[in-house]
Amino acid sequence: MTEPAQTAQPLSAQELRTIFADHGLRTTRQREAVYQALCACHSHPSADELMALVRSIDPDISQATIYNTLEALVECGLAKRIPSPTSGGACMYDANTGEHVHLVLDDGQVMDVPMDLSKKILDAVPKSVLEELAARTGIELRGINIELVGQRT
Ligand SMILES: [Zn+2]
Repeated sequence: MTEPAQTAQPLSAQELRTIFADHGLRTTRQREAVYQALCACHSHPSADELMALVRSIDPDISQATIYNTLEALVECGLAKRIPSPTSGGACMYDANTGEHVHLVLDDGQVMDVPMDLSKKILDAVPKSVLEELAARTGIELRGINIELVGQRT
């Protein structure tokens, strides 16, 4: 399976088609534009922020298309929806679907902790505690979301 690239390089049309096909998603010009914009964005944009970005390239794309495309990307596993760190704020979207840690700043900005450090943090969570939690609650754990909070110094 071709994994989405987490680089600043835009994906080629062929790479996009392969990624979409691997995830069972039909390729359309609008879906390509939305996914390309989300991948290029290293922040975690809301649907409206993403719409502004996509419209700078394709002014005719509708709000419904943006929202429907984001839903389709989340459903097929090409993007993740993150709840807003500020109460009442809009959901944010992340093209980085690998397990990684988020750093939430006081202004509501959500940054990715670099993958090597994310891995160190996630690996440090004791497996025995996760097993104890699963045994005690009867809930099968599927993953870990860790959100750190901080402010710029
Ligand atoms: Zn992220």
